[in-house]
Amino acid sequence: MIESLNRVEISRPALRHNMQLLRRMARNAGVMAMVKADGYGHGMLECARVFAGAGAAAFGVAEVVEGVSLRQAGFSQPVFVLAGLLPELVPSLFDFDLTPVLVDDTLLSSLSREARRQGRSISVHLKVDAGMGRQGCTLDQAPLVIRRIMDTAGVQLQGILAHFPMADERDSASTMDVLAGFSALVESLGDQLPDGLCLHIANSGGLLYFAGTRFDMVRPGISLYGCYPDGLTGRKLAVGERLRPAMRFVSRVIQVKEVPAGSGLGYGHIYTTGRQTRLALLPVGYEDGYLRVLSNRAEVLVHGRRVPVVGRISMNLTMVDVTDLQEVRPGDEVVLLGRQGAEEISCDEIAAWMGTINYEVLCLFGNLNRRAYLDD
Ligand SMILES: *Cc1c(COP(=O)(O)O)cnc(C)c1O
Repeated sequence: MIESLNRVEISRPALRHNMQLLRRMARNAGVMAMVKADGYGHGMLECARVFAGAGAAAFGVAEVVEGVSLRQAGFSQPVFVLAGLLPELVPSLFDFDLTPVLVDDTLLSSLSREARRQGRSISVHLKVDAGMGRQGCTLDQAPLVIRRIMDTAGVQLQGILAHFPMADERDSASTMDVLAGFSALVESLGDQLPDGLCLHIANSGGLLYFAGTRFDMVRPGISLYGCYPDGLTGRKLAVGERLRPAMRFVSRVIQVKEVPAGSGLGYGHIYTTGRQTRLALLPVGYEDGYLRVLSNRAEVLVHGRRVPVVGRISMNLTMVDVTDLQEVRPGDEVVLLGRQGAEEISCDEIAAWMGTINYEVLCLFGNLNRRAYLDD
């Protein structure tokens, strides 16, 4: 089979290492592996296999359709649907044994009706907005919504969760405020809550940076894939304690050419050579998530050395200046993200060039390119 010259490589040992490291940090709390966005660009089903093998207690997805794929692939762990719920999807929640994360009481009548129809009940979790300021019922509304859930036939309240808006910032007071609001709600309800209720709040930032956020379950996403939510922490840790980036993005040289000093390069001639220059052309561009904003800004690895992207990145072509390298040839491997030899281009570096966060880089590269899975 003929495939694109651009390829995203996913390291299964890196995914496994991250899951194991996070499980140790989670201690007695179960780990809900967040595999939404096709595993943050790493491939949901392949990642779920690795995470399940390394002890994931549950999976988290955004929409019902993703949960259905997990079930059809044979996963038996609890699957939480964190967004994208409408009454028309309620039968599928039952059919595929998915756990809805409710945000208010609007779905209760549909859930109860379907429970009666199917002759069985469904477990649900409730998401409260304890300071995130997005999805979920406010802390004020929560006691009433909880009461309504508990009074609904065929619906069982199994857990309560919240989400942190700023757990990537270690010195922000926000995380402790959200944690306090969430804890106060749970304490105030005390005996009224069902026994064995599952409480969870920690995303990667909560788990990595804030004590006391583990409760019964944690929900890491970005860290499973080897990136830190603040984009920094990894550098300060010893290699053994560090998460390992699982994604590499590689391309190949398709042409090498010499141009004189003073040559305008590519669309808009936004770069003019200041010397006799050897260029290598790569068959990658914004179509593949290597966005135009990286023009004249990014670096890539060729022969284990950093070289700059010059000129405008176009739909399917990018140019790099390889004047300082010896003998680059068509077919040579080029690394856009990840390691080559002793050098590495990190996801955080690319995110900084793009004015975004590592999450977005992973989703872009991973979900727009052919993936290959490596066992190292
Ligand atoms: C995506 C998501 C997470 C995971 O967040 P990371 O920062 O990637 O660890 C956790 N909880 C909820 C509700 C989410 O939507």
